[in-house]
Amino acid sequence: MKIIQTPVGHMEVFCYLVYDEETKEGILIDPAGDEDRLIRLLREKDVRLKYIVNTHGHADHTCGNERLARALGAPVVMHALDETYFQQVEIKNWARMMGLCPHPPADITVQDGDELTFGGITMKFLHTPGHTPGACCILIDGNLFTGDTLFVGAVGRTDLPGGSFSQLIESLKKKVITLPPDTIVWPGHDYGDRPSSTIRREMETNPYITDFVD
Ligand SMILES: [Zn+2]
Ligand SMILES: [Zn+2]
Repeated sequence: MKIIQTPVGHMEVFCYLVYDEETKEGILIDPAGDEDRLIRLLREKDVRLKYIVNTHGHADHTCGNERLARALGAPVVMHALDETYFQQVEIKNWARMMGLCPHPPADITVQDGDELTFGGITMKFLHTPGHTPGACCILIDGNLFTGDTLFVGAVGRTDLPGGSFSQLIESLKKKVITLPPDTIVWPGHDYGDRPSSTIRREMETNPYITDFVD
């Protein structure tokens, strides 16, 4: 399995191309911007895109969905709660007010514990609400793609519509720090002192875990 981490757009969002080197089937996680470059990257690596996956419904993570789905014919996958939440008219208008383009309806909605496969690889959706109602961490073979739930040394905002700090802390406690300590953390933004981390390192150094998760 190969993971390519690449920043996209102007909000330092990390997009991930994850693919099976044997079958050349892969996914893009949060491909929100620089769509032409991402299409070139897929061609360069000779990867067939099976799914466009969103960690959550915020427009800075979903604004590339429409163009990429149209260009590559891959279905968009999102947690059912964020799909419902972010299709509300008032939430879409709020995204527009923030200067971000809302996404069209997702093709596939998932729930906690659902699995999808690409090539010989299985990804599992862990529902981790708090940053948004349907935020997910995506577990793929010892790698956790945390979106805005967990950053290197921080967590995502919970003061935006649909956010809840207590829910986010509960999600970290129940779904994230219970994973094996060597699990690699791949965040949704390049906000930390390094581009990736591990569950062990975050449990030792992330103040939101050391101070708030008992
Ligand atoms: Zn977000
Ligand atoms: Zn974000």
